[in-house]
Amino acid sequence: MAKETLSNSAYLETLVARLLNECKGKDKIYIYGAGARGRYLEGFLSENGIKIKAFVETCISNTNEIKGIPVISVDESDRNYFYFLCASMRYIEDIKAQIHKRGCKNYYVVDENTVLAVKARTHYVKPSTIRRGSKYVLLYHSVLPSADNDYWNITVTKENFEEQIRYLADNYHIGRFDEEWETDDEPSVVITFDDGYANNYKFAFPILKKYHVPATIFVCTENIDTKCKFWFDKLSELDLKENTKEIHGTLRKSSSVQREQFFKNFPRQFLADETCRILSSNEIVELVDSGLVSLGAHTVTHPSLMFQSKEDQFFELNESRNRLEIITGKEVLTFSYPFGGRNIDYDNTTIKIVGECGYKKAASAFAGIHYAGDDLYQIPRNSQRNCSLPDFIHNMDANWSIYS
Ligand SMILES: [Zn+2]
Repeated sequence: MAKETLSNSAYLETLVARLLNECKGKDKIYIYGAGARGRYLEGFLSENGIKIKAFVETCISNTNEIKGIPVISVDESDRNYFYFLCASMRYIEDIKAQIHKRGCKNYYVVDENTVLAVKARTHYVKPSTIRRGSKYVLLYHSVLPSADNDYWNITVTKENFEEQIRYLADNYHIGRFDEEWETDDEPSVVITFDDGYANNYKFAFPILKKYHVPATIFVCTENIDTKCKFWFDKLSELDLKENTKEIHGTLRKSSSVQREQFFKNFPRQFLADETCRILSSNEIVELVDSGLVSLGAHTVTHPSLMFQSKEDQFFELNESRNRLEIITGKEVLTFSYPFGGRNIDYDNTTIKIVGECGYKKAASAFAGIHYAGDDLYQIPRNSQRNCSLPDFIHNMDANWSIYS
């Protein structure tokens, strides 16, 4: 399916109808997957009068209840129940294998589009009292006049960005990623950018100044003061069609030397234009001197860290911080994991190295809300796609609701 809008697609209506049809005559229903997707589905089913018995997970973490619904392990689940499989598509085959092993073939795979459809059709209510110390962190990448030709779907238009910032400034206390959170009880929203695109300076910074809103930019340092592109922007320039995803998957795990080797196969310069150029030293200094923008590190070469040697992980973490500290003369104590997936892009070894390198906080890229006492080395962040203000507010209210 191409770019359907959430509200008016007949195709999405069909998906929702099919989903509700699956529930008919069933009163023993599980949702396999207690992440965002599973929680969106539960909210939608509940609004339609359908109660589920439990969320099922492959491994139980420390959550054993979500909104009064038990979270059980697949080993505790009952094979006679009906399972909605509702997790990232990359895990679906594993999940199918898990329930087949238990002798159950009674399931329905809830795909990404169905999740989008149910989310758009659920009325979320932000909790009237937000827990003390809650931090809702937003993750942006690029802000540009247009979000067309946005290969990786990471651009928010400056018009939408301004509406979002104005809304946040009017409705929330806006905190900072690099301030002391342990003693700060005030629930807040925190704005972050990953990668360090120069468009943050050109298009986002004037808006942050206009509304006096602070933000943190996590800068990947290799291409500062150059016209070189990030490796993933080189890859999108090559436009290798259906191979792109697979090559991206390989390159993110590769070492920087292997990645360079790959691009040497293509006789071209890969020069960055203004949409994907990285910040210059002068721009970084101006951002930081404004007092509104803080810097965090985001490695030197943007690899998926857990696939790198320990030595390379130390290099990526130390070198990026040192470079930023030399440019600004200010300490850099925060970090964000490239790609940011827990046990997909970083693991416990990476987290340990982040601490050993002296960082005080690290940002992940899975959705959620940070509450007082949560792990400061895996702070959830909510990725922002280009969307209208009503959709932005709907997404925020949905997250406050499912993660409260
Ligand atoms: Zn990044």
